[in-house]
Formats: sequence, structure tokens, C-alpha cells
Amino acid sequence: PPAESTPGRGLLGRLFARPGGATVVRRTLDDDMLEQLEELLIAADMGVDTALRVTANMAEGRMGRKLSTQEIKELLAQEITRIMEPVARPMPLYPKRPQVVLVVGVNGSGKTTTIGKLASQFKAAGKKVVIAAGDTFRAAAVEQLQVWGDRAGVPVLTAPEGSDPASLAFDAMTRAQADGADLLLIDTAGRLQNRADLMEELAKIVRVIRKKDDTAPHNTLLVLDATTGQNAISQVETFQKLADVSGLVMTKLDGTAKGGILVSLADRFGLPIHAIGVGEQIDDLAPFDPQDFAAALTG
Ligand code: GDP
Repeated sequence: PPAESTPGRGLLGRLFARPGGATVVRRTLDDDMLEQLEELLIAADMGVDTALRVTANMAEGRMGRKLSTQEIKELLAQEITRIMEPVARPMPLYPKRPQVVLVVGVNGSGKTTTIGKLASQFKAAGKKVVIAAGDTFRAAAVEQLQVWGDRAGVPVLTAPEGSDPASLAFDAMTRAQADGADLLLIDTAGRLQNRADLMEELAKIVRVIRKKDDTAPHNTLLVLDATTGQNAISQVETFQKLADVSGLVMTKLDGTAKGGILVSLADRFGLPIHAIGVGEQIDDLAPFDPQDFAAALTG
């Protein structure tokens, strides 16, 4: 059947490719093949530990068997799906008015864009949304957020450049409560150059919004750029120290991002992946589907 003789375009194609463009149909699952699989997974940004675990699990009880590309793909996809299924969870919604969502991440990760996309999605779902442009030190970020807010038809609260983000967050809480908003999305700064400052800034935002609702923030989303590969690991570690991260949004999965980083993150931290960014347009935010993801990753 064509499925067995056609090597995949993704990870596995290379495993079955032979010099001169020929391909083999089946290969014995042996140490050599496992090593090559590990290398492929590591090259796909999966990280060494996760790659080793995935290949070990898939090989268990199968050493010495002859497998086709299709069979290997399916076995790998199964292992990846098993790791990803527990973390594929949409952002939880609570009966809170407003539900306060703090959005954190390094500059350039896609925070602004993601807030615009989220605002648009929740608005389309009938929610009343307010955005607070909490990165008051980056005039460009504030402007950009305003553009996204206009597109989504959602009000964006801003403050003069350089003013206290916590005071803006407090005003935004007041406004969102007065308006009976369902959701308040708060953008934050992402300058990791001065972590102590950033930590104090985030802590202060949390302190002041708790004056208005001591259960807030209800979600703290960390936005990560999938194209940064293994860097994402240290970003999670850093932001977990700076804030109480409750879930992830992975952006730029439409590009050349190898995606294995998501498996690595899921395996390591177990944080829910609420959504993935698949483009620069307002509708380019998708739920995370572990099976589709595993199939795409294994090609
Ligand atoms: P911020 O600095 O974290 O607020 O990042 P931005 O939201 O400004 O995004 C930085 C760049 O990444 C912009 O050029 C965005 O258009 C782009 N971007 C954000 N999300 C995605 C995505 O899912 N896919 C692609 N291809 N580009 C994205």
C-alpha cells in the first residue's frame, strides 16, 4: 500500500531514506534505529530527556520487530499524544465578574497579538471583554494593543507612558467591575533584563487587583514563542518564579517551528496548553489538539 512505501515528509522520512533517493519499506527496531529516532526527536526540539523517554516507551516490547514508516509514525504519535493529552485544556472559565487574566511573557513572544486574538474570541462567544495595556513602558506595545482592541471591538485601557502599571490595573479592575465585564485581560511588561524590577511590578499588579477581588488573577497565561526552541524551558522556569503561571499559549506554530518543544514542556512542567498561535491574523488562535499535533510532528 502507498502508505508503507512513501516516507513521511516530517521527522521520519529521513529514517527510511537511502542514498540516491531510494527508500526502504521496513526497518528492524534495534538500538541503531532507536538512536536515530532519538536524534530526530532532539532535532525537532524535544530535548534529550523527553526524546529518550518517548523512544524507550515506544520500543518497549517491540525490539527486533520489523516496522514500516507508518507503524513507527503511529507508535511515536501515540507516545506523543499520551504526553500531550493531559495538558490540552482550554483556559478555564470561572463565574467571576470580571475574570481577571494576567498575560505574561518576554517581549516579542506574541503577548500583544495573543491578547487581541483572545479578546476577539471571547467577544465572539458573547463575553464582555476589557483589555488593560499594562506594559506602560513600551509605547509601541500600547499602540499595538489599541489596534487589536479596535479590531476586536473591545475597549483598551491605557495610561501615559512610564506610568505605574499597577495603578492602571487597579483602574481597569474598577472599570471592568463597573461595566459588568466578564473578562479583563491584562498585558504586562516582558523585560527580563531586570528581573527584580519585573518581579516587583508583577507582584504589585497582583496586590492591587486583589484589593478589588482577593481571588484575582484567575488565570496567569504565559505566552511562549515556539520558534525559540529549548529557550522556552528557561522562560517557563523564570516566569514561574515571577508569577503564578496557570497555563501556556504557544505562538508561531504556523512557521518553521519544530514543535517538539511543546512535548518537552508538557513532559517537564505539565502546565496546560490553552491555545496555540498559528498566524498573525486575529482568527489565528486555535485550541490545542494533541492528536493533530502528534500527527503533524511525526509527519
Ligand atoms: P509581544 O512583544 O510579546 O507583545 O509580541 P507581539 O504580539 O507584538 O508579537 C511579536 C511578533 O510575532 C509580531 O510580528 C506578531 O505578528 C508575531 N506573532 C505573534 N503571534 C504569532 C503567531 O502565532 N504566528 C506568527 N507567524 N506570528 C506571530
